[in-house]
Amino acid sequence: MVKLRKAAEVKFEESEDYKTGSWRKDIPVVIKRDVLDEHPEVALFCPEAVIIYKDGKFSHIDYRYCKGCGICAQHLKDAIVMKKA
Ligand code: SF4
Repeated sequence: MVKLRKAAEVKFEESEDYKTGSWRKDIPVVIKRDVLDEHPEVALFCPEAVIIYKDGKFSHIDYRYCKGCGICAQHLKDAIVMKKA
């Protein structure tokens, strides 16, 4: 009979526990909120779903999870700029 040993232990956590914003080197800065109000589709492009709208208006970016990929700034070049974090 073969005896099996435990080779590894994996700890599972909620994805909210991983603050992916700590990976960021650049940070998106909103310079024209009214443009975001008119283009809520930008939230759909964000891979982390951290561009937050409330009541149809832009509210904020949740920087705890924003990775600084710059996709939002590419989509709305005149409203969001990337700066060094
Ligand atoms: S930089 Fe990337 S992760 Fe951060 S808000 Fe923009 S699209 Fe989302």
